[in-house]
Amino acid sequence: MRRGKRGSSGNEGNDVIGNGNMDKERLKELAEDPRFIQGIYNYCDRWCERCPFTSRCMNFALSEEEFEDPESNDVRNEQFWRKMRETFQLALDLLKDLAEREGIDLDSLDVAESEEEHRARDALAGRHRCSLAAKLYGEMADDWFEAADDLSGRNDEDPTLDGVFGSVEMDPTEGGLGLHDAVEVVRWYQHQIYVKIMRAVRGSLDERQESPDEFPKDSDGSAKVALIGIDRSIAAWREIRERFPAQAHGALDILLHLRRVRKEVEKAFPDARAFLRPGFDRIDLNG
Ligand code: SF4
Repeated sequence: MRRGKRGSSGNEGNDVIGNGNMDKERLKELAEDPRFIQGIYNYCDRWCERCPFTSRCMNFALSEEEFEDPESNDVRNEQFWRKMRETFQLALDLLKDLAEREGIDLDSLDVAESEEEHRARDALAGRHRCSLAAKLYGEMADDWFEAADDLSGRNDEDPTLDGVFGSVEMDPTEGGLGLHDAVEVVRWYQHQIYVKIMRAVRGSLDERQESPDEFPKDSDGSAKVALIGIDRSIAAWREIRERFPAQAHGALDILLHLRRVRKEVEKAFPDARAFLRPGFDRIDLNG
């Protein structure tokens, strides 16, 4: 699916655009383009189709350039993975250049040890109350959709929209999110909440080893994205519960659990709500 028009300001006439031949120079050029809000993509929900900042996001521009061919947008397609490999390789080359300029010897870093540490922290983060609760939420939501599908007697591969909900009559005059939208919202955030919470917990474990400073914490940013996903999912589940009475009881259990997850995250990350996400919580960090 196309995600909107690629930003064009300052790019006309550039041979690189349109043919997908990204190179180091082009990547650098994009990174320095003042159109883009620095780091906006670090604390977003990756729902580009619904994002009001596509024209201010380097990540979006980059993926539009690299994956503009519909074939290369398909994750099952070999070309997609080749492009991904190329983009990572470019980013690595840029990092090496930067390290060389700053006199840092990347080869001297103990990769084996940091990988081991990384794995240990991952395991620790996975056992955190917030992570466990978020993981359970994802499973509960899956079970709910499966049960809803069974109830309807359908067995579609994708129960999100074309399965059980594809047959529900929509009344365009009704307010609220709408069932279709509510299901989309739930499905979008269902597993992302867990991923963001894991990132927040892992980040907070890293931050404990650093000396305290006055900068906003990355872990709070990730926790805020998770909280926003939870808030939206709660609103969506309320809608689903009202409009799908046959499964209202299960939806209520999920709602109650999700509220508990929210409480846990707010307790573990008390400053998360106040975190200012570039672009979303303030207009522009580029001055
Ligand atoms: S900031 Fe918006 S456009 Fe950029 S990656 Fe996130 S959702 Fe997509």
